[in-house]
Amino acid sequence: MPNLQIFHKKQPLDNPVSLSEITLPLHRIIPFSNVEGMGNRTSIFLQGCKLNCLYCHNPETIPRYTAESKNVSLDYLYQQVMDAVPFIRGVTVSGGEPTIHHKKLVPLFKALKEQGLTCYLDSCGFFDFEKTKELIDVTDKFLFDLKGIGDGLQSLCFDRKNREGKVYPERIAITDPFHQRIKRSNLDRNLQNLEKLLKLNKVEEIRLVMINGFFDGKLLLESVAQLNPSKDVILKIIRVHNKGSRDPDGLAPYIPTIEDMDQLVDYAKQCGFKKVVTVY
Ligand code: SF4
Repeated sequence: MPNLQIFHKKQPLDNPVSLSEITLPLHRIIPFSNVEGMGNRTSIFLQGCKLNCLYCHNPETIPRYTAESKNVSLDYLYQQVMDAVPFIRGVTVSGGEPTIHHKKLVPLFKALKEQGLTCYLDSCGFFDFEKTKELIDVTDKFLFDLKGIGDGLQSLCFDRKNREGKVYPERIAITDPFHQRIKRSNLDRNLQNLEKLLKLNKVEEIRLVMINGFFDGKLLLESVAQLNPSKDVILKIIRVHNKGSRDPDGLAPYIPTIEDMDQLVDYAKQCGFKKVVTVY
């Protein structure tokens, strides 16, 4: 029987906190998945994300709590994962954005790793690296979502007031600081975090949802190539699709053609990426 008693960082050592005392907002669990990292894995989707990507296919996970989500204990999640053993290699926690729950995920990952399971995060990468360091330390690999590069990200991913996820062509090139949703300096945060994670050999897959009009895909690939990812890192380029998005008609003009995608894949190879996967 695994030892489920863990010590919460802020608790004195004589006051252990069990996994049953910490809760997380759960969207859903997929017991077996082979598309969320290496091998067969249990995928846990948590509620809550600070972004608001126009192409988000799970916008119901953006709020931290909804009527459909449920608050569950870490012990519940642990048991759900252990029920899938021995048919899984590990667990991948996704969202929403899992790193917003960074403190609470640490004891869960520690308990799962004690059972020999690998722990992955599927993240957009816009987290505070230092504050998230304890979780990073117990995370085996990241599936790291690149969101883009430059000012187009303001309307593509950071316009939280746009709850309906509508595409406003006139807002794509935001130059007026009044309409900027996050500080310009923070737009580079996910590339900065990617660089740090690559140095720690914590990245299994870099994902890019390619959409025309909002950022320069080639410039982005050049910027990532300059970070010297190892040849084992997978680059997955996903053609944005509008089905299931909140504004399918608005997104339609920005879907790359097959030729656009092929050109970008060729460019990725020229930039030195060895393992390029495309999803059309
Ligand atoms: S990062 Fe974007 S795509 Fe992912 S859950 Fe958040 S809003 Fe949706």
